[in-house]
Amino acid sequence: MLQIPDYAKKYKGQEVQDLPDPEIFLMPLNGYKSLLTPVVQEGEQVRQYQLIAKSGQQFGTYLHAPVSGTIGALKSINESQYLTLHNDFKYIEQKLSPSVPEKWSKQELLNAIKELGIVGCGGARFPSHIKFNTGDNPVDFLVVNGIECEPFFSADYALIKYHADELAQGIKVVKQIVSPKKIVVAIKRKNKELKEILEAAFLQHKLQAGVRLLPNHYPQGEEFQLIGTITGHKLSKGCIPSDFGVVVSNVATFRAIAKAIFEGKPNVERITTLYNEEQKTGANFLFKIGTPIAHIVEHSKFIPQEWKKKRLRLGGAMMGKNAGQQLVIHQGTGGLIYLVPQIVSQTNCINCGYCTQVCPQYLMPMTVIPGFSGQKNNLINRYNMLSCIECAACEYSCPSKIPLLKYIRQAKSILKQ
Ligand code: SF4
Ligand code: SF4
Repeated sequence: MLQIPDYAKKYKGQEVQDLPDPEIFLMPLNGYKSLLTPVVQEGEQVRQYQLIAKSGQQFGTYLHAPVSGTIGALKSINESQYLTLHNDFKYIEQKLSPSVPEKWSKQELLNAIKELGIVGCGGARFPSHIKFNTGDNPVDFLVVNGIECEPFFSADYALIKYHADELAQGIKVVKQIVSPKKIVVAIKRKNKELKEILEAAFLQHKLQAGVRLLPNHYPQGEEFQLIGTITGHKLSKGCIPSDFGVVVSNVATFRAIAKAIFEGKPNVERITTLYNEEQKTGANFLFKIGTPIAHIVEHSKFIPQEWKKKRLRLGGAMMGKNAGQQLVIHQGTGGLIYLVPQIVSQTNCINCGYCTQVCPQYLMPMTVIPGFSGQKNNLINRYNMLSCIECAACEYSCPSKIPLLKYIRQAKSILKQ
């Protein structure tokens, strides 16, 4: 397994900062395997927290206005759809109703989670009302994922440090839905100071939950790795955790649930890390969903104005993608990283085997290198490359600087055809 230094050590404990809100929000209509349809018209005045789009498809979710203002035009950018919202900076709220969730049924809670726009905040934005609807399957473990394995990220750290109270409240709601035998909050050993904070919040909310300090390995926070470490179950591609009696969700999702259920506030914000590799500085910010990246670049000292010439990555240095495709902060954006371009000279594979040693899926990444002896689609298939989780640990470890992840993605797209 791969060990990566704690780059966030200097700033992870600092208070979460704010930036001024943008004049125009680009509300993302592309959800997890679904396209949301606006329920408001161009020119319509909306209040903060008002429903503005939804989808009735299988994985459909709901989207709410992060501020009050006027609905603008629909926009299609880079094959993604956005609804523009012109901020009036008045923050006129939709009237919110207080709730007493203890009296709600499981289905009522799931409906509220859906209608208040809760999706997984760990990256993929899987709808939470589907994840927590475990039917009659008994749940042995509810795992609250606070591992945050991306090297520069500390948004989940800040969330636990400053919002452990809301986190405990959110866990209580999900406990009411899935009735787990055990609740485990997983954090890395290097963040052990958070254990006391969490335990104090559990005590305050009379919540029976444990904190597990896990090794600082990368990618420990990936769902199947986490389940393997905590429960001993080895899940392979295509497995559904709830079939093994496990439900896993990110800490930010539980906080969003607490705000939705107890305050009536839909999921319109998230804590995100900004990091500048050149200056080796970072900080955590609270952004509203739909905040354009260009606005963040303009107002934050962490990302220089000439960012487009360099490498701005959304979703982390290891598993993220270049920011060109995603224009805004969405519910799954854990961080925005400004990387200094590396001048690397790639050399041939020397068969050192490091890529295999660090691979959490026990794969042989070198088999995807063009020209690798014996490379054929059926060989790649045999080596089960489709179960690669794209963690980039192999590429990070490769002494020949071979862009393994690029080749893996190419191979996977061929295999999926
Ligand atoms: S082959 Fe895939 S899962 Fe294995 S280390 Fe590389 S990116 Fe990670
Ligand atoms: S780490 Fe790089 S050089 Fe070593 S076997 Fe893997 S691909 Fe080849």
